[in-house]
Amino acid sequence: MKDSNFLKENNGRQFWHPMTSPQDSIDNPPKIITEAEGVRLRDIDGHEVIDAVGGLWNVNLGYSCQPVKDAIAGQLNRLPYYSTFRGSSNDTAIELAYELNAFFAPDGMTRAFFTSGGSDSIETSLRLARQYHKLRGEPGRTKFLSLKKGYHGTHFGAASVNGNANFRTAYEPLMPGCFHIPAPYPYRNPFNETDPARLATLCAAALEDEIAFQGANTIAAMVMEPILGAGGVIPPHESFAPMVREICTRHGILLITDEVITAFGRTGAWSGARLWGIQPDMMATAKAITNGYFPFGAVMIGGHVQEVFENNPAAKIAHGYTYSGHPVGAAAALACLAETHRQNVPGNAATRGTQIYEGCLALMEKYEIIGDVRGGHGLMTAIEMVSDRSTKKPIGGDVAQVVQETAYQNGTMIRVSGPNIILSPPLILTEADAAGILSALDAGFAAV
Ligand code: PMP
Repeated sequence: MKDSNFLKENNGRQFWHPMTSPQDSIDNPPKIITEAEGVRLRDIDGHEVIDAVGGLWNVNLGYSCQPVKDAIAGQLNRLPYYSTFRGSSNDTAIELAYELNAFFAPDGMTRAFFTSGGSDSIETSLRLARQYHKLRGEPGRTKFLSLKKGYHGTHFGAASVNGNANFRTAYEPLMPGCFHIPAPYPYRNPFNETDPARLATLCAAALEDEIAFQGANTIAAMVMEPILGAGGVIPPHESFAPMVREICTRHGILLITDEVITAFGRTGAWSGARLWGIQPDMMATAKAITNGYFPFGAVMIGGHVQEVFENNPAAKIAHGYTYSGHPVGAAAALACLAETHRQNVPGNAATRGTQIYEGCLALMEKYEIIGDVRGGHGLMTAIEMVSDRSTKKPIGGDVAQVVQETAYQNGTMIRVSGPNIILSPPLILTEADAAGILSALDAGFAAV
């Protein structure tokens, strides 16, 4: 490894970082992480912290999951790559598809399509949704619906269904035919409705209204995160997803759940669909599928979508990636599935999630700057900061950065996104780790 001065000097100069400006990477140098163990990171200066970000919501099993590392190393040595494009396949991808179909069987899924990450999985599901309707003889169904504040990635398709201007404006015009419904976000919504159940009904009514306005026979699919993640951890009322499911079914619209964060235990359930008791038509997955150790994703395909494709000899899937079914990713994913079961990862996510959520609610009692705390479903929690609780004016200046840096100096890496602190630690967190995160946050808020 190069020495630390070289690395610090070259970080912002040699490559552009996602989701920030080139100048910002120079003016506000990021933490350079050089080692990790369990749920802890060590930076270039030797400072150790708990990773309350969990990589980027993906390192569910922590940084020392030896079976996953062994699976990757073993696969690299035996077969480091082979394509699954027409005419070839590899044994590891076949085995993984078999296991994923079993894992997602309770969600109604029967087939897998492999990708290289979350944005790819969304792109794939949007394309397959359009093709599904063409195969069924309804080629006019081309539009997509999604939730405001939803995050679905950065390809043109994904950005077009994203519900946050931050990810859209610089790259417009985006894909035509994408329309957005208000999110069931009780703290801020156009209806001024704070009751989650009533708000869910209003948002479902807005969905019905948009479908009527567009014409159901022009809409291919609705894309939705079971719990909105990057938009600020917004768990809808439990009635919401079942209402959306029913509306989509009634209008012949496919429901794609974006499970890039929620699949594999993050919410305390095995999948977001299972959390809400719905069966989507497709599920987009990525991230924790390989514990962040290898770029990989899978779109899971539900029974009747499968039938439409498989019963039509003309249904050529003119889509795929060089790395679709990459054997190293597939080997990592097989090991992750086994570890998720062996360690009952969703169970621990539920218990530790409650601890973190309740701890954040206690911090809200203590600090005026906390306007809202959202979570309660596994290890995805957000703290929304305001400069005035009565007007809900979002915090300004460098307040968030001070909280973040103080928390870091007190032993915890947290992520700030706009006015929100987002906590998404590895799901193998212990009680003491969770307490450590809360006490670092306490120090962070005390500093402002
Ligand atoms: N969907 C959701 C819900 C996500 O959180 C993300 C990434 N944060 C994506 C899609 C895009 O995934 P990727 O960054 O792997 O392309």
